[in-house]
Amino acid sequence: MRDLFKNDLPDLRSVSSVIDLTALDVISPGSPGYRACARSSLIVRCHSVSDVVQVIAHAAATGRRLMPRGGGHCFVDRRPADGIVADLSGMDRIAVDDHGVAAIGAGANLATMYATLHEHGRTIPAGCGDTVGIAGLTLGGGIGLLGRQYGLTCDRLVGAQVVLADRSVVECDEHRESDLFWALRGAGGGQFGIVTEVRFATVPEPSVCRIEGSWTAGDVVQAWQDWAPGAPDGMSVNLTVQAGRATLFGASTLPPAETESLLREFTARAGVRYAIDIRLDVPYSMVKPTFSALDPDDKPRRARSEFFARTMTERTTGELLQRLTGNRRLAFTAMGGAYNRVAEEDTAFAHRGERFLLEEAGDPGDPWVDEAWSTAHAEGSGRVYPNFPDLALQDPRLAYHAGNHPRLAALKKNCDPHRLFDFPQAL
Ligand SMILES: Cc1cc2nc3c(=O)[nH]c(=O)nc-3n(C[C@H](O)[C@H](O)[C@H](O)COP(=O)(O)OP(=O)(O)OC[C@H]3O[C@@H](n4cnc5c(N)ncnc54)[C@H](O)[C@@H]3O)c2cc1C
Repeated sequence: MRDLFKNDLPDLRSVSSVIDLTALDVISPGSPGYRACARSSLIVRCHSVSDVVQVIAHAAATGRRLMPRGGGHCFVDRRPADGIVADLSGMDRIAVDDHGVAAIGAGANLATMYATLHEHGRTIPAGCGDTVGIAGLTLGGGIGLLGRQYGLTCDRLVGAQVVLADRSVVECDEHRESDLFWALRGAGGGQFGIVTEVRFATVPEPSVCRIEGSWTAGDVVQAWQDWAPGAPDGMSVNLTVQAGRATLFGASTLPPAETESLLREFTARAGVRYAIDIRLDVPYSMVKPTFSALDPDDKPRRARSEFFARTMTERTTGELLQRLTGNRRLAFTAMGGAYNRVAEEDTAFAHRGERFLLEEAGDPGDPWVDEAWSTAHAEGSGRVYPNFPDLALQDPRLAYHAGNHPRLAALKKNCDPHRLFDFPQAL
């Protein structure tokens, strides 16, 4: 990467008239709507790359930290005290070219993205959550129901435009600023600059079998761990367990008969009756909303998570299930497949040998979340998904980035020497 950064942040700070933000869409304390949308000291809604450049210049000149915001769904509050939030929601244009490459404004959310790509008969493997931001999701990886077949969202990223701390606007891909391009694929958001556009190699949108089943007994949790992460790539089924009920849900791009036969294999292993609803020919982009009833409501909750490279012992699974009462929940997400066919050092996303992700969630203040996490952690791989940040981690660098941390830390120093972009657990 060229040395962009021997420049003038200290000088900028010393200029007497700092960059004027009044021409921009600023929400400050006292503005109508401020209370409703945020607690941070200043929010600037960016509608163009030039707005982003100006916000960065202003932040650098005034010595205020800066946080880019897309969908606003980060699990922890990274808004800098007395800093600036650059809200990108106004930059949500989406265009698909003749080669199937989608250029998506960093402010677009997943619902808009899926719906627009659907009109072109295309899609990308991406997550759930209608209002989750495409940039935030991609920068940390991007796990979803097509991921076992096509990989992480960031694995389909072919280019991005980024405004760096020195206000330079850079295009990056495999050939240009390739170090930065590597880092954007999985290190997590808000680290290196403000991404203004992400470009993806889309895939034809498949029609899938929608899968849902639910049981109150049986060996479902242990059987799922043995089976789901090793199922054929086209089969992606997750498991949510809450107060004595286990719910299997997901999608399959395999033919219906093969899908059913695989699911019968699962129920036989679990020792439960085949009570699975398969709905045929659902466009991929429309599957996830049909599972919205399974999602926890908007009530605040606390969650921790970890990747697992091996099935947990029956004893550990049993201990986790024993105290699963009230709003406590275990969510198992199948990894494997295409997620693991990329080498750990090929992208910043370092977790390429995992079988599943386990999330423990409960009411805020419920000690069970930490207890359950510790119980499971004894058999976990010690790795944590950067998009599920956890302030209680002892060594977040290792947990989020594993062997990729030294390269990421060097790049951070180079890209953002004055730490304009900073938050607890940042590189
Ligand atoms: C309801 C819900 C469903 C979810 N489902 C999934 C799922 O299916 N799969 C999955 O993998 N994850 C999922 N997640 C987790 C999600 O990927 C992360 O919370 C993600 O970071 C959210 O991005 P955001 O843009 O919405 O949030 P934000 O809070 O806006 O951003 C998250 C982080 O990225 C940074 N960032 C955002 N935009 C930019 C940008 N343009 N340039 C640089 N940095 C940026 C922010 O500074 C922040 O650090 C879900 C989360 C929720 C709340």
